[in-house]
Amino acid sequence: MPTDPSTRHGVPQAKHVHALLAGGQRTLAELFSKFESDLTSAGAVPVRVGFDIRMERPGYDPFPKRDLGFDSYALSRALIEFLTRARLDAHVNVEIRQRARVERLIADERRTITGVEYVDADGKRTALDAQLVIEASGRGDLTLAVLDSLALPRPPATTIGVDIAYASAIYEIPHDAPDDWKGVFHLPMPQSSRGALLLPLEGRRWILTLAGRHGDDPPGDEAGFIAFVQSFRTATVYDAIRSAKRLGDIVRYRFPESIHRHYERLETFPSGLLLLGDAVCRFNPVWGQGMSVAAQEAGALGRLLAERAGERDPLDGLARAFFAETAALIVTPWAQAVIPDFIHPKTRGERPADFEQSVKLAMAMTKLAARDPAVHKLTAEVGSLLKPRSVYLDPELGRRVLAVMSEG
Ligand SMILES: Cc1cc2nc3c(=O)[nH]c(=O)nc-3n(C[C@H](O)[C@H](O)[C@H](O)COP(=O)(O)OP(=O)(O)OC[C@H]3O[C@@H](n4cnc5c(N)ncnc54)[C@H](O)[C@@H]3O)c2cc1C
Repeated sequence: MPTDPSTRHGVPQAKHVHALLAGGQRTLAELFSKFESDLTSAGAVPVRVGFDIRMERPGYDPFPKRDLGFDSYALSRALIEFLTRARLDAHVNVEIRQRARVERLIADERRTITGVEYVDADGKRTALDAQLVIEASGRGDLTLAVLDSLALPRPPATTIGVDIAYASAIYEIPHDAPDDWKGVFHLPMPQSSRGALLLPLEGRRWILTLAGRHGDDPPGDEAGFIAFVQSFRTATVYDAIRSAKRLGDIVRYRFPESIHRHYERLETFPSGLLLLGDAVCRFNPVWGQGMSVAAQEAGALGRLLAERAGERDPLDGLARAFFAETAALIVTPWAQAVIPDFIHPKTRGERPADFEQSVKLAMAMTKLAARDPAVHKLTAEVGSLLKPRSVYLDPELGRRVLAVMSEG
C-alpha cells in the first residue's frame, strides 16, 4: 500500500476520473466521523452541485446552472483511498496484511466458509481462520469458484454490453482558467458516443477523462486525444485545456460490460460469506456510482451487524438480509444507466420492454428539471444517490411529466 496518495496496481481504474457522489460521501462520513474535514484538509475541491460543474447535454449547452443546496468533493481516486485507509488503519482492531493475494475461500463439510488461503509476496501460503469473510475483490471470482466447488448454483446475472473506452490526462490548472465553472460534464448526442468529464483534483489540477463507445475509442496519443476533444459540439473543454500543461501520460481503459450478479435470488448460499462492491455489481463508470454504492453497502452491513449483535448467532441468515439490502441499493443507480446505455443501438443486453416510453419520460423529466428548480434538485438528489428513484412515483410529478410529454 502506498504511504502517500498515489495509484497502485490493484486498481488500474484509479488513473481515471473518479467522481465521489454526495450519497457516497455522506455514507463515508457516517462510517468515519467528520470525514468531510479530512477531505478539505487534504485539498479536495468542494463542488456545489448544480452550480460548479458545467453540464452540457443534448439540447442544453449548458443545462441551467443553479445552487441545489448541497456539496460534493472532487479529488483523485488515490486520495479517496488514502484517506479512507488512514481512517481504517487507525482502528486498533484492524490489521492490513499487505501484498497478500487470496487464492481461495476455505469451506467445511457444512458448506460454511471458515477462512481464506492467501499467498504473500515471498510465495508463502497461509490459511487464515474467519467467522465472516467479505469478498470485496472487485470481481467476485473467489466466491464463484467456491460455489462451483460446493456444487451450489451461481447467481443469475444481468449484463449490459456497453463497450466503453476511456482515455485520461491530468493538467495543471492554468492561471487564466474560466472562473464560471470548476468542471465540465459533456454528454454526447444520441447518435454519437463521445463524451467527457473534466473535474478538479487536489493540488490545483484537472483530470480530463474522454469516453467513447463501441469501437470509437479516445486515442492515447496527444494529437488524437486533442482531435477527439475538438470533435465535441462545444469548444468548452478544448478551450480549457488547449494551453494547459499536461502532467504525465495519457492513460487508457476499456470497460466491456456492466454486470449485476443477483445474489439476492439464490436459495442457498454458504454461511460466513458476503460480497460487496463491484464483486456484486459493476456499473457503467460514466455515472460515477461504483464507489458510492460500495460505501452504502458497507453502511448497510454495519447497521445489520449492529442490529444482530445481541443475537445468539448474528451470522445466521445474514447473507439473505444483506443481499436484500444490496439489491435495493442497486436499483436506483442501475436504472439511471439503463436508458442512456440502450439509446446506443450497438449496446448488448435485454432492452426494457417499455424502453421507448421510458426514453420519452426521461426526456420530459429533463425538460421539466431545466424549467423547475425543485425538479432539478430532485433529479440531482436521485443522481447523487441521496434519494431512491421511487421518489419519481409521486402522482403530482407524474402529472407534470405527462403534461410536458404531451407538448410533443
Ligand atoms: C474507468 C473507471 C472509472 C470509474 N469511475 C468512477 C467514478 O467516477 N465514481 C465511482 O464512484 N466509481 C467509479 N468507478 C467504479 C469504481 O472504481 C468501483 O466501483 C470501485 O472501486 C469498487 O470498489 P471495490 O472495492 O468493489 O473494488 P476495487 O476498488 O476494484 O478494489 C478491489 C481490491 O481487491 C484487491 N484484490 C482483488 N483480488 C484480490 C485477491 N485475490 N486477494 C487480495 N486482494 C485482491 C485489489 O487489489 C483491489 O485493491 C470507475 C471504474 C472504472 C473502471
